[in-house]
Amino acid sequence: MNKYILAIDQGTTSSRAILFQKNGHVVATAQEEFSQYYPNPGEVEHDPQEIWQSVLSVVEGVCDKANVEKKQIEAIGITNQRETTVVWNKETGKPIYNAIVWQDRRTSGTIDDLKSRELQKEVKMRSGLLLDAYFSGSKVEWILDNVKGARKLAHTGKLAFGTIDSWLIWNLTGGKTHITDVGNASRTLLLNVNKVQWDVLLCELFDVPMDMLPDLCDSSGIVAYTDPAIFGEEIAIAGIAGDQQAATFGHTGFHPGIAKNTYGTGCFLISPTGKELVPSEKSLLSTICWGLKGEITYGLEGSILAAGSAITWLRDGLGLIKSASEVSELAESVPDTGDVFFVPALAGLGSPYWDQYARGTIVGISRATTKAHIARATLEGIAFQVYDVVRSLEKESNTPLELLKVDGGAARSDFLLQFQADLLGVPVERPAGVELTARGVAYFAGLATGYWSDLQEIQQLETTTTTFKPKISESERNALTSRWADAVERSHRWA
Ligand code: ADP
Repeated sequence: MNKYILAIDQGTTSSRAILFQKNGHVVATAQEEFSQYYPNPGEVEHDPQEIWQSVLSVVEGVCDKANVEKKQIEAIGITNQRETTVVWNKETGKPIYNAIVWQDRRTSGTIDDLKSRELQKEVKMRSGLLLDAYFSGSKVEWILDNVKGARKLAHTGKLAFGTIDSWLIWNLTGGKTHITDVGNASRTLLLNVNKVQWDVLLCELFDVPMDMLPDLCDSSGIVAYTDPAIFGEEIAIAGIAGDQQAATFGHTGFHPGIAKNTYGTGCFLISPTGKELVPSEKSLLSTICWGLKGEITYGLEGSILAAGSAITWLRDGLGLIKSASEVSELAESVPDTGDVFFVPALAGLGSPYWDQYARGTIVGISRATTKAHIARATLEGIAFQVYDVVRSLEKESNTPLELLKVDGGAARSDFLLQFQADLLGVPVERPAGVELTARGVAYFAGLATGYWSDLQEIQQLETTTTTFKPKISESERNALTSRWADAVERSHRWA
């Protein structure tokens, strides 16, 4: 009987299930989009029950497509949109509020208050992160403060907090297991990344009772089995990782000077730094990449909060394109942007600026500007943001970038990746399938059960890649990036 690893990739805009076989090839994929709720400007919510149902549906879908029975699944790996916050009642299993999505800015005021109390330094030392509404801490606090009776329930130990991985595992185990991996935990603002433990002071700052928190586990290891009522079988849950951590692991083969960037709803650039936490002086985040065989791998991360979402905005907000895949052709129909720059600060600016109040800004529009110029400026704006993060990474890690490995939905655009290589002046390498997130968590799960014996075996599974090489001169690059810096200046402190 052939055995497979099932990766569940619960992303920001869709849920996917992907079956991998032993040679690392994808057997089948199923995908389902789910609803995005925007109750007020700057607010984004998901319905946790809809997410859970979409996961069940894609798992059934992928097994049907591949004609694979549940008993042929050796193990499940779960990867998830990070930081998105769910609070549910442990007795009823029901969420007490919608999931507050990582992009949501409603808690900016709480964060400002903490910043004004000069707490940034202490918080950074403990969590590796910056004070920002992006992370889970202030989102849990908001739910407890704004849902009637929630604080009281929390203090009697009846509520659970989790990121989406925890929520899915709770459901998959029929409410038996409340856990998260160390990598997901490192994005909550509640974890002490040095001690790899929930931090009493951080929990106090956000007024989060500690018994709401999930238990911590490695990213690779059999942590639970699915309730037989769900798939008719007990299947091992053996891998858990946030989407960016999983994508990093999926790329394999890092040394200083190599980073990965995922072009999804946002862009997230990670450079693994090994067993030691490298503190960031300013604009980057020190984060846990994964826990493997009891050992932590740390990384430096630049988080860009809007990237592919700017392309979907061209589609849904402006109606300039019918599908995201049309953006490159439209962009390439003009030779340049005609000096139009688009700073896609749709959810504020993340790394390296961290301005919660920045907003999307298009500058340089003239009577000659067409939708093609806007499309081109959108793709270029994504690449410029990555350029800014790379320059910060180089400064803070004291290591020049040699190679950028890329993945994610928007990395399908050759135009975007060529422009990225031009800006960075280093090669950009894209593997044949852009599903590195699912691949990474499948590796975690497969390593835990011995499906793949070790990292060496996994590295040999690597697929073919396309490399984009820089083509423009230093002076052309400087002209572009200084104009961009000017455009960014204009997007600050708008909201
Ligand atoms: P997430 O996991 O954050 O939901 P994905 O990795 O699935 O994100 O990427 C989705 C993003 O990729 C969307 O925002 C969409 O705009 C963009 N995208 C998808 N296909 C293409 C394409 N062919 N060209 C450019 N962008 C694309």
